[in-house]
Amino acid sequence: MTTPVRLLIHGASGRMGQALLRLAAEEPGGHVVAAVSRSGNAVLPLQVPQFPATALEAVPDFDVAVDFSLPEGFDAVLALCLSRGAALVSGTTGLDAARKQRLETASASIPLVWASNFSLGVAVLHDLVARAAQLLPGWDCDIVEAHHTRKLDAPSGTALTLGAAAQASGARPHYASIRAGDIVGEHVVQFAAAGERIELVHRATNRDIFARGALHVATRLHGHAPGRYRVAELL
Ligand code: NAD
Repeated sequence: MTTPVRLLIHGASGRMGQALLRLAAEEPGGHVVAAVSRSGNAVLPLQVPQFPATALEAVPDFDVAVDFSLPEGFDAVLALCLSRGAALVSGTTGLDAARKQRLETASASIPLVWASNFSLGVAVLHDLVARAAQLLPGWDCDIVEAHHTRKLDAPSGTALTLGAAAQASGARPHYASIRAGDIVGEHVVQFAAAGERIELVHRATNRDIFARGALHVATRLHGHAPGRYRVAELL
């Protein structure tokens, strides 16, 4: 039997952190050794050692950190992974250009995955958008995303990633964001020309899809050489 990968959950008290802690119990390849949040008070499960962000250096040895926090939290967990020689899986969005550059630099030293979306459906949507943009030169491309009112960044990281795929295939995407109610995440990529319109749509109804994907990627990333990996390579 192989030893479970030791996981650090960073952002543990948040919506994603709570889903990660709950679902990690069902992931046979991983074992949560520490949970970190701003206050150090995640809700469950009680047997997981919890740490406040201010005591990050005190966490026990771990193999992979799974980070769904905020950009400042991302800085701290990236530095921790570099100092411990551990791998990092991050879904934290709203990273600025300097942080993305630090991520790139860190990939020379540790294995890491950063993705704006860990769902299989969005991985497929990404390919469909690239293909549509390639087949529809000159069509208007608009990306409309909707999320719950407590989401801080806009446009969403997923919208920007889908837009980058469209742009790389020749489109010039425009973005619109809706913040309403408890919407988990919806993305509509529309291609329009005179007299016709194509819409590619993904609707997430449960954030467990992101948490399951991230845990799956984390257990598979362990043991890889330093470098930046894509979700599709590890799912
Ligand atoms: P949330 O606000 O519910 O939770 C944020 C968590 O981060 C909390 O536990 C908080 O204590 C912690 N935190 C904040 N600042 C911190 C710091 N400096 N150090 C350590 N911990 C800190 O947010 P959420 O809805 O769980 O989303 C978290 C992030 O994940 C956001 O950036 C969101 O956009 C992103 N997200 C990504 C995906 C994906 O598939 N990539 C899916 C959903 C959400």
